[in-house]
Amino acid sequence: MYLKVQSKKSIDLGVVLAQSTLSDGNMSFARGAANEVIANRRRFLSKFGLELDDLTAAGLAHGTECRLLDNRRRSAGAFTLQNAIPNTDGLITAESDLILAVTTADCLPIFLYDDDCSIIGIAHAGWQGLANGIVKNLIKSAAALKKQPLKRFYVKIGVSVGKCCYIVDAERLKRFAGLPLCEIHHRDGAKVHLDLKRIAAIQLERQGIPAENIEIESKCSACGGNYPSFRRDGDSFITDIAFIVKRSKYQS
Ligand SMILES: [Zn+2]
Repeated sequence: MYLKVQSKKSIDLGVVLAQSTLSDGNMSFARGAANEVIANRRRFLSKFGLELDDLTAAGLAHGTECRLLDNRRRSAGAFTLQNAIPNTDGLITAESDLILAVTTADCLPIFLYDDDCSIIGIAHAGWQGLANGIVKNLIKSAAALKKQPLKRFYVKIGVSVGKCCYIVDAERLKRFAGLPLCEIHHRDGAKVHLDLKRIAAIQLERQGIPAENIEIESKCSACGGNYPSFRRDGDSFITDIAFIVKRSKYQS
C-alpha cells in the first residue's frame, strides 16, 4: 500500500506504508500469545523485505503524545509490549530503515511523510485522540523536526471504522462540536454516525496540510471484510499492525 500521491523522491527512497489484515493474524501482545504475535509480525514484514528487529512500536494510550525517535529505540516494542514507547500514540523519525508501527482495530492509522523524505511519522487515533488533538501534535512535532512548509507533507488515513458503522451517543458527539460530522439520523432519531476519517482530514487541513495531499482509505474495518474490528468482534477482537518506513538499505 503506497500513497497515491507521492513525490519522485519518495518512490526512489522507497517509503513504504502498510497495514495488515485479519488473515495476517493478531499483531498485539495485549491480545494474544507473544510467540504468535512475533511470528505474525515477522511474516507480514517479510512481504516487504523488512525485519522485525528494525521495528519500533508505540505503547498506545488513546492519548495525544507524539515522540521523536532515533535509532536508539530500534526494536522497542517489537518483541514485547514491555518496552514499547510508553504513553505514546504518535511516532516520528528522521532515520532510514527504522519502522514506525502502531496497532489498530477500528482506530485510524495516520501515516505521514514529507516530500523530501526527511521525516516519516505514524499515529494511532481513536475518538479520544482526535478529540484531544493528536493530529495537531503529530503535525506540529513533524514540522518542528525540520522546518519546512506544511504543503510539503503527505498524509494517508488507513483502514478504520467508517461512518457506516460508527454510531455514537450524544455525549461523545459533544466532543466534536464545530466539526461537520456527517450525521446520519435513523428513523428513530436516536442514532448518530460519526465520520472519524473525515474529522481527521479536516483537522489535518486546519493544521495546514493541503487537501490534495491527504488520502483517505474508504474501506471500513467493521464491515469491509478482512480487517480486525473491535466494534464487530467485541471481546474477542484482535489487532492489525500499521507501519511506515523509509528504506535505504534495500535500495540497489
Ligand atoms: Zn462499516
